Amino acid sequence: MILPIVYYGQKLLRTKCAEVAEITPEILEIVASMIATMNVKNGVGIAAPQVGHSLRIFIACDYIETEEGESELSPPKVYINPKILSKSQETCSEIEGCLSIPGIKEEVERPVSIVMEAKDLNGNLFTEELTEYSARIRMHENDHLNGVLFVDRISPFRRKKIAHFLKQIEEKKKS
Ligand SMILES: [Zn+2]
Repeated sequence: MILPIVYYGQKLLRTKCAEVAEITPEILEIVASMIATMNVKNGVGIAAPQVGHSLRIFIACDYIETEEGESELSPPKVYINPKILSKSQETCSEIEGCLSIPGIKEEVERPVSIVMEAKDLNGNLFTEELTEYSARIRMHENDHLNGVLFVDRISPFRRKKIAHFLKQIEEKKKS
């Protein structure tokens, strides 16, 4: 089921999400809806609070290279109760956007690599070492589970620059 996106300004995006206690049929349903919604919105990642569920679940895709040397999106991967176990000292800046903050793209500085632990849909714990884009998207989605948005991580100067646009999203999506 395609779910409505929760936009910037709504309280749910600022709420720390609850751990998933058990992977029930309802959780599977939520995950399926998250993937369907992400696909229809052309997202590369989505977190549960963005579709109205305050739960520690996110989906992420990676860019993979095809045999023809072209770049395409990997199948979506599910992360339940994710934890960042470690972050590299080294950081890098890249442009990010967010389905909940349409029209705004800003440079965000984040660690280059992380080690992440999470449960899959079968409840099995896995650990991954991730770098660059793959690490960035998971940090972005993981932030959502803690009520943090990418615009919180941009420079004060840029934040001031986009304050007006954020206000517009807040006003427009309130209804
Ligand atoms: Zn986002």
